[in-house]
Amino acid sequence: MICGGIDIGGTKIEARLFSHDLATMDVRRVPTPRDSLNDFIDILAEQVRWLDARSEPGPVLPVGIALPGLIDSQTGHAFTSNLPASGHNIQTLLAERIGRKLPLMNDCQAFALSEANGGAGDEFETVVGLILGTGVGAGLAFNGNLTRRANGSALEVGHIGVPARTLVPRQIPVWPCGCGKQGCFEKYVSGNGLAALGQFRLSRPIVAEKIVASASEGDECSAAVLSEWAEIAAELLLTIQLDHDPDCIVIGGGLSRIPDLVPLLEKPFEAIRLGKMRMPAIRVARHGDSSGARGAAVMAQRAVQ
Ligand SMILES: [Zn+2]
Repeated sequence: MICGGIDIGGTKIEARLFSHDLATMDVRRVPTPRDSLNDFIDILAEQVRWLDARSEPGPVLPVGIALPGLIDSQTGHAFTSNLPASGHNIQTLLAERIGRKLPLMNDCQAFALSEANGGAGDEFETVVGLILGTGVGAGLAFNGNLTRRANGSALEVGHIGVPARTLVPRQIPVWPCGCGKQGCFEKYVSGNGLAALGQFRLSRPIVAEKIVASASEGDECSAAVLSEWAEIAAELLLTIQLDHDPDCIVIGGGLSRIPDLVPLLEKPFEAIRLGKMRMPAIRVARHGDSSGARGAAVMAQRAVQ
């Protein structure tokens, strides 16, 4: 059955129409309203209607929605840092506009669901989808399904603290995080984290893309920064393994485009592996930027089956 997925981001709301085998048939992106809840719900409804119109004539289109943030499993309220809908029940408000209630999920969960179904984690039983981008977050799928979580969160691994054993020997400072805590993984392994490490080591402002590009061109200082980033990211992979022991960790987000990312992470991971625990398979995401919408579409398909 064809289906639709909507991925809500801080700058754009993307609607994707998918074929029965989840290939993208059409895409429509609109800017995310910044200030008005009413405008936000209007634009969301407009995206649903666009998807509905693309699928006619036919049965009502299954459509799912993914957004960055927590969706409280008891109240249905969404909590997200940069959307005007934060603190509101998006499902209910949208249903008042379009006449039906659509499934809503966290975007990291959507990413994990997408990659566990026809993605890079397809052949594995327990799959963690880890996004290394502007932020750091993860989702967990078991046998291709998500499991209910008490707070409606994804795996908030970005806000786990980096171990002292990682920062102290390298004399890396404990940087404050936007969440109010200090030393969170996100401050070191996100895109901005890589840039901050670069600035710390090179004593000049530098963006993540430049570090990656210079390292690829053979610049030794940039390569050393990238290696150190990978060592800290490997600690995050180990943390995920110790918590969830997945068969596979699929990496997505902007930093998943780092050339030869898998061996870059596997080498330091191997060095800190615990006892006889085997390493999980490390994979790069197969569905890239469509993962949020695709995962939401998988969920919508299942809701009507
Ligand atoms: Zn934090």
